Amino acid sequence: LARSLDHMASLPAETADGHRVCLLVNTGLMADVVRSLERGAEGVGLFRTEVPFLLRDRFPSEEEQREIYREQLEAFAPMPVTMRTLDVGGDKALTYFPIEETNPFLGWRGIRVTLDHPEIFLAQVRAMMKASFGLNNLRIMLPMISGLNELETARNLIERAYRELLEEGYEIEMPPLGVMLEVPSAIYQIRELAERADFISVGSNDLTQYLLAVDRNNSRVANIYHALHPAVLRALQEIATTVHAEGTEVGICGELAGEPGGALLLVAMGYDRLSMNATNLPRVKATLRAVRQADTELLLQQVLKMDCAKEIEQTVSAFLQRIG
Ligand code: PEP
Ligand code: MG
Repeated sequence: LARSLDHMASLPAETADGHRVCLLVNTGLMADVVRSLERGAEGVGLFRTEVPFLLRDRFPSEEEQREIYREQLEAFAPMPVTMRTLDVGGDKALTYFPIEETNPFLGWRGIRVTLDHPEIFLAQVRAMMKASFGLNNLRIMLPMISGLNELETARNLIERAYRELLEEGYEIEMPPLGVMLEVPSAIYQIRELAERADFISVGSNDLTQYLLAVDRNNSRVANIYHALHPAVLRALQEIATTVHAEGTEVGICGELAGEPGGALLLVAMGYDRLSMNATNLPRVKATLRAVRQADTELLLQQVLKMDCAKEIEQTVSAFLQRIG
């Protein structure tokens, strides 16, 4: 297994007819880094910054954060590392910052929390940008964006932090700023978001949960949580097409990108960057290398006509079986 992993790591992530895709990893712990590099990741598409926050009993200081972020950025440099600003709330609770709500997934989560606490946000983005000094491989990404005003407020804070750092003598570049597309309202503002952000990355775990109104962690309704539901597929296609029409790069960092069948459909839709757990990366790459882009497009056209998630899942598995 180790030898075949090594072999796969050195091969390009492209379809049999040469359509190149960028395969990235989702990280949170330093332990993810070695596995990611061994498996040939081309950078980090999602560094879940809340993971180091969850492992502590108080907010890490700006300097503690800088050290954590520096390790990630250094490990992957010159490859890009996309750091998501703190995404707590929902199912992710900090013991030292309790949020009690009856409906947490529709409550105070992600960007909503950090925009209400600009001191937390500013310390975090300052730490990220300081950490990127001399490397310039940082990208910043905002979770749970539901409207343009949140992007603008966040951008203003980041620009303010950036100007302050320049005044403090840090010669750094302004990092690209991306929006996670995981709230349905953002689908209907995707053109404006794509125009104003440097990149868009779909958080398909939450997007599926919110589109289908199915709690992603509730086993009672797990049988109706379908990442390949026709409505989800149509949304994913529309997002990719609209973002590309704006000349903006579009990626995905939800679990769907790490499933071979999901990855094929996403590539057919035009997604440029797929970010996944390092464990899934070799399998996804092997699958992509075994198909031609035109065949993934035929598969996509076929499943986009279907109106039942189960039928789509079966069609995709049968396709995967045929290619071995
Ligand atoms: C997502 O929602 O798809 C995502 C990548 O973010 P998280 O799983 O951390 O909510
Ligand atoms: Mg999410």
